[in-house]
Amino acid sequence: MIPRANRRWEVDSAAGLLVAAMSIIPIGCGSQPDPIAEAAHAAATSSAPMDEPAATSQPASAFRPPDPPGARDRIEDRNRMVETQIARPRDGRKPVKNAKVLEAMRKVPRHVFVTNDYQSRAYGDSPLPIGHGQTISQPYIVALMTEALQLTPEMKVLEIGTGSGYQAAVLAHLTPHVYTIEIVRPLGESARRVFLEQGYDNIHCRIGDGYKGWPEEAPFDVIIVTCAAEDIPGPLWEQLKPGGRIVIPTGSAWGAQNLVVVTKTPDGKRRTKHITGVRFVPMTRE
Ligand code: SAH
Repeated sequence: MIPRANRRWEVDSAAGLLVAAMSIIPIGCGSQPDPIAEAAHAAATSSAPMDEPAATSQPASAFRPPDPPGARDRIEDRNRMVETQIARPRDGRKPVKNAKVLEAMRKVPRHVFVTNDYQSRAYGDSPLPIGHGQTISQPYIVALMTEALQLTPEMKVLEIGTGSGYQAAVLAHLTPHVYTIEIVRPLGESARRVFLEQGYDNIHCRIGDGYKGWPEEAPFDVIIVTCAAEDIPGPLWEQLKPGGRIVIPTGSAWGAQNLVVVTKTPDGKRRTKHITGVRFVPMTRE
C-alpha cells in the first residue's frame, strides 16, 4: 500500500502544459502518479473500469569526471531544479540528500537530452516526450533512483532503458563503469551521439533487448531498470552480484507500479524495500 502522502504530486507552473501532455501520453515514464491526470483519465473512461491503473589508474575515491560542455549553460535552471524539486521535502516527497547525487543533478545538462520542442520545460518537474512513444523521466525520480543504488566509483552499473541517455549521464558522474541498453535503435543512436558530444566516454551503450542483460560484462554491482516489468527479469537477477542491488519499477504495464530496491543477499535471496508509487512505460521485448 502506497502511503497517500507519497502519492501526492503538485505540479509547478507548467501544470497546464503537463496536463495537456499527459492527456496525449497517458503514462509518463518515471513520474510519480499524477492525481490530476488520473482524475481526468477516470472521467474520460467513466463507463469502463479504470485500469489499475573501465578500469582507472587513479584511486576510486578520487573519481571525478570532467564537466560536460553543456554544463556551462542553464546553471541557474539546474540549481533551481535541485533546490525546489529534489533536495527539499515537498508534497510528501522524501527529499534526496546524497550530496554526490545532488552534485550530479547540478552538473548533467538535462536540456541536451531533451528535444528542441521541449527546451523550455527541460528543467520542469515532469517527464517529457523523447519520441517513439517514450519519455525522459521526471528529474526527482532520476535522483531518487540514483540515490537508492548507493553507487560508489568502483561499482559497475547496468541500466535497462537508455531512452534519452540522461539517467546514464547522471550515473556516469558517480562511477566510471556505466553500461546501458536501449531497445529502440534511433533512441540508442541518439543517446550515443549526445554521450560523444558531451564527453561521456565511460558510458557503454548497446542497442538490444535489455531483458537479457549484458552477460559479457556481468556481474554487475547494481542494476537500474527504467521501464516497468511485472517482476525482475531472470537474466538480470542472475547478472547481479550477491550483495548487489537492483532498482526497478514493478507492476502491470499500464497500471499501478511500485518502485522498489531489491537487494540480493550473499546467499542469493531477495530483500525488497518499497520506495514509492510510480508510472513508467513498460519493458518491451525484441
Ligand atoms: N532512462 C531514460 C528514460 C527511460 S524511458 C532516460 O533517462 O531518458 C524507458 C526506455 O526503456 C525507453 O526508451 C524504452 O524504449 C526502453 N525499453 C523498453 N523495453 C526495453 C528493453 N527490453 N530493453 C531495453 N530498453 C527498453
